Amino acid sequence: MGIEPTCEAWKASVLPLNYARTGGNTNCSRQFVNQGSLNSLNSVPRGVFSARMNALLLTGGRVIDPANKFDAPADLLLVDGKVAALGEEATPKAPAGCQRLDVGGRVICPGLIDIHVHLREPGQTAKETIATGIAAAARGGFTSVVCMPNTSPAVDNPGTVALIHDIASSLDSVNVFITGAITKNIAGEELASIGSLKKAGVVAITDDGHCVQNNELMRRALEYAKMFDLPVMDHCQDYTLVTDGVMHEGYWSTALGLRGWPSAGEEMIVARNILLAELTGGQVHCQHISSAGSVRMLREAKKRGVPISGEACPHHFTLTDAAIAGSEKFWKEDGKGIFACQLAGTALPSWPSYDTNFKMNPPLRASRDRQAILEGLVDGTLEILCSDHAPHCDYEKEVEFDYAPFGITGLETEVALSLMELYHSQRLGLGDIIAKYTAAPAKLLRLTKGTLSVGADADVTVLDPGLDWVFDKKDSASKSLNSPFLGWRLKGKAVMTIVGGRTVWEEPGVFPRGTRAGEE
Ligand SMILES: [Zn+2]
Repeated sequence: MGIEPTCEAWKASVLPLNYARTGGNTNCSRQFVNQGSLNSLNSVPRGVFSARMNALLLTGGRVIDPANKFDAPADLLLVDGKVAALGEEATPKAPAGCQRLDVGGRVICPGLIDIHVHLREPGQTAKETIATGIAAAARGGFTSVVCMPNTSPAVDNPGTVALIHDIASSLDSVNVFITGAITKNIAGEELASIGSLKKAGVVAITDDGHCVQNNELMRRALEYAKMFDLPVMDHCQDYTLVTDGVMHEGYWSTALGLRGWPSAGEEMIVARNILLAELTGGQVHCQHISSAGSVRMLREAKKRGVPISGEACPHHFTLTDAAIAGSEKFWKEDGKGIFACQLAGTALPSWPSYDTNFKMNPPLRASRDRQAILEGLVDGTLEILCSDHAPHCDYEKEVEFDYAPFGITGLETEVALSLMELYHSQRLGLGDIIAKYTAAPAKLLRLTKGTLSVGADADVTVLDPGLDWVFDKKDSASKSLNSPFLGWRLKGKAVMTIVGGRTVWEEPGVFPRGTRAGEE
C-alpha cells in the first residue's frame, strides 16, 4: 500500500476552490451542517433536511450509555437532531406527530465511532470512496468514522482536509472526522504543518500505513501536537526489524516459507512512544496493537500515568497466523474453542492456505498474542476497538501472498466479531464493549460524540447482540471485498444507525412497516 506521488497540478487546480468553500475551519461534517452552511449542499434533496426536523421516540429498549454510566430499560426521545429526553420524561415530552418505534428489547446506545478507517478518497477511489466507505460504516452501526491520511495526495495540508470535508458534508450521512499526516507526504522526513492542519479541522495526526522512524522527528511532532492539543496516533513498525516481512515471524512463517514480521518490530516503536510520551508529556495513541509484548508495555506505562493508549482490531483477537496455513490447520490448532457456542452444529468457515485476505499490517500473530490482546481489552489496557478498514481491489489481492497489499475491510463485521469474542464468550459486559466504541474514542479525540446526554447530537445505534447472520458479498456496501470473514456465520449486529436524528441504515425485516406508529 505505497503512497502514490503527489500530483501538484491537481492540487493547485482543485483544492483552493474547495478550501475556500469550507473556509478551512470546520471540524466535521455534522458540525459543518449545524453551522448553517447549508448553501453548499444544494445536491442534497430537500426532504432530507425536513426529515431531520421530525421527532423519533425509541421505546422498549435497553439503553446503554457508558459515558453517563447508564444501563437500564428506558425510552429515548430525539428531536431536531438532538437527544431531547431519556427515561420517564421521554414519552410525555414527545411532540405531536412524533414517530415512535418499539425496538423490541434490543440495545440502544450512543452512535458507534470507528477511529481507524481508510476511505481511500482522494486518489484511490477504485478501492473505496467516501460514499461507499460511509455506507459500509452505516451498515456496521457506525455514526462517525475517523479517516486516515494516506490518500493520494496525502492529508498533509489544509486543502486536502477541506476536500474530504466537502465531499463528506455533501453526502450528509455518517460523520467523517479527518486525521492529518505527521510528516509531509507521509515520507517521515519533514513535519507537516501541524498548526494549519489543526486549524483546518483534523482531530489527530498520524502517518498510518507508515511509521516515523526518526525518533527526534517524532519527539518534535509530539511537542508541536501538544501545543495544539492534538493527539498523535502511531502505526508502530520498526522498518529495520520488519524489512520485507509479510506475516508474523514464528512457526508458521517458517513452515509456509514466508518472510517474517517479528513482534519486536512493533514493540520497539511502542517502547519508543512510551519514552517520548513521558519525555514530552504529549499524548500518543498506538494503533492496531497486535503483540503480547506491546500490551504488557502499555499496561505498565499506563499504570505510571504516561499519556499513552492503545487500540485493538477484531482480526487480531479472533484469528492467528495459523490461519494463513488454511482453515483446516487454523481450526485444528489455534481455532479450537473460538466461537464454540456460536458455531456448534454448523459447518466451520473454510479457506485455502496463502489466502491474501489474511494478510494485514501488523500481521495476525501467535495464539499467546491473541490471548494477550483479549486480556488487554478486558483489563482496560486497550481502551478502544476499531476496524483498520483497509479496502483493496480484487486484482490487487489476487496475487501471490508476497505481492498482495496489506489490509482487510472491517466496518461491517467488527461489531459482530467484538460481540462474539468479548460478550458471547463472557469476557466483557455489553457496556464495556460499547464504551470502547463510544465514550473512549470520543474522549481520546475530544469529539462531542459518544454519549446520549440530553442536548447531545442524536447519533444512535440500535444493536441486536443475539442476531445470527452470515456476512455475504451481496450485503456489503464497501467497494472492496477483501475480508477474511466472507461467508462466516456471525452473531450480533447493528440493526439501526441514526445520525443527527435521521436513520441512515436499517436492517431489512427487523422493523417491518406498521410497527412504527405515527409513521408517514
Ligand atoms: Zn496502520
